[in-house]
Amino acid sequence: MKASHAAARPLGSCTLVGAGPGDPELLTLKALKAIQRATLLLVDDLVSAEIVACAPPSARIVHVGKRGGCHSTPQAVINQWMLRAVADGEQVVRLKGGDPFIFGRGGEEVAQLRAAGIEATVVNGISAGLAAATAIGVPLTHREHAHGVLFITGHAPPSGQAGGTDWSALAGAAQQARLTLVIYMGVSNAAHVQRGLLGGLPASTPVAVVQDASRPDQRHLLTRLDQLTVALLHAAITSPAIIVVGDVVGCAALAQEAWQRNI
Ligand code: SAH
Repeated sequence: MKASHAAARPLGSCTLVGAGPGDPELLTLKALKAIQRATLLLVDDLVSAEIVACAPPSARIVHVGKRGGCHSTPQAVINQWMLRAVADGEQVVRLKGGDPFIFGRGGEEVAQLRAAGIEATVVNGISAGLAAATAIGVPLTHREHAHGVLFITGHAPPSGQAGGTDWSALAGAAQQARLTLVIYMGVSNAAHVQRGLLGGLPASTPVAVVQDASRPDQRHLLTRLDQLTVALLHAAITSPAIIVVGDVVGCAALAQEAWQRNI
C-alpha cells in the first residue's frame, strides 16, 4: 500500500496532538497550529468540542472514542486509517486528551507508524493529573510536603489477568520517599485502591478527587484516605476524574472552604 500510494503523490504527515484536559485555553500554540493545518482529525474521547472546532471547515473529523453511546474504534483500525491517510497525502492530526504519552497509547501509535516507515511528530498537552491538581490549588511537589510525584493508573487489570499494582507496597514507598500519588482512571476501582493504600499510608492522609478538571462542569471533593470510597459515593463523582493522594492536598487554596461544602 505504502509504495504504490507514495509513487502517486507525496506522503502526508501524522501529528499526535495533546489536547489538554478540556479548557481550550490550555492548548499549546503548537497544538493549535497543527489542528489548523489538519486535513483529517481522528479525535479521542475527552477532547472538548471547542478544541475540535479549531479545525478548518474543510477538514474531515472522525470521532474514534467510545463515549457518547458509540463503540470505540479498535486501535488496529485507527492505525490503518492513519497509515492510509498519510499515504494519500493528508495532514493527519491524531487528537488525544491530555498528553499523548501519558496513558494515551501514544507510544503504541508512534511505534506502529514507525514500523510502516512514517515518523510521527508528537505535541505535548497538559496532562489531566497536572491540570486537576492546579485547578484546585494543589502544588503537587510543594517542598515542605513532597519530594516527588508519581503518575499511576488505577485501572484494574482485566479479570483473570495477573500483574495488578501492589497498592500497599506503593503506599509504603510513597510514605518513605514522600511522594504525591496522582491516580488516573481510578474511580471505578477506588475501593480496591483505598484498601491497598491504607496498608502503607496513614488513614488521615489527605485525598482530593477532581472530575472534569478545567471544564465548566468541574467538580471536586476533599477527603481523607479512610473515607475515600464513602466520599466518592456521597458526592457521586464519576469518570473522568483524577485522585490525588498526599499531604500536598492539605495546601489546596480552596481546601477549607471545599471541605466544609463537601463533607
Ligand atoms: N492522556 C491523558 C490521560 C488518558 S487516560 C492525559 O494525559 O490526561 C484517561 C483518564 O485521564 C481518565 O480516566 C481520567 O482519570 C483522566 N482525565 C482525563 N481528562 C480529565 C479531566 N478533564 N479531568 C479529570 N480527569 C481527567
